[in-house]
Amino acid sequence: MKLLLVEDSERLRGTLARGLRGAGFTVDAAADGVEANGFLAAYDYDFVVLDLGLPRLDGFGVLRALPAGGARPRVLVLSARDQVGDRVEALNAGADDYLVKPFAFEELLARLHALARRPAETRADVLEHAGVRLDPQAHQTTANGTALQLTPREFALLELLLRHRGRVFTRAEILERIAGSDSEASDRSIEVVVFGLRRKLADTGCANLIENRRGAGYLIP
Ligand code: CA
Repeated sequence: MKLLLVEDSERLRGTLARGLRGAGFTVDAAADGVEANGFLAAYDYDFVVLDLGLPRLDGFGVLRALPAGGARPRVLVLSARDQVGDRVEALNAGADDYLVKPFAFEELLARLHALARRPAETRADVLEHAGVRLDPQAHQTTANGTALQLTPREFALLELLLRHRGRVFTRAEILERIAGSDSEASDRSIEVVVFGLRRKLADTGCANLIENRRGAGYLIP
């Protein structure tokens, strides 16, 4: 697995590069966005581990330069704790996952392995599972052939869980991904969204699509 590591902190870059090589990745390391785009133009990568705050050209500049199609690498973004808006923007710009600094190296490895298992997909793909069909492009959902009338948040939640099937999302993660920096939203409002979505799915015969892992969060297995 070929991986491009983009991190401006020399110390962190060195530590991560050594660890990732030790874990079996072939690693190129870049110290800023311009250098990263040079590597990306010259070589094909399976993964990019991308810090957002970078000199010369930031992580968004790297994300924007990536091709939109199926051959693009999986991108795992690294961000500081206080950059919630940046994380949402990065996910919307095509990042596949993120980690908040500081993080344990084992968690980085676990996230990369999870990304490796995820089937190749592009953001425009129609998502289908267990009778439910969601078209992100047309913004339409059907369940067992019946059109669902979903609120924007219900649609975003269903897309999130379908796109990352098998992964458990905590309420806080769901909140961050579907509500962004909307300060009105809360854990409680996520429960309302989940409840509403489940009720609409149940009405069309898909009652058990979304599972609740007590104390952990929600997933579509
Ligand atoms: Ca940085």
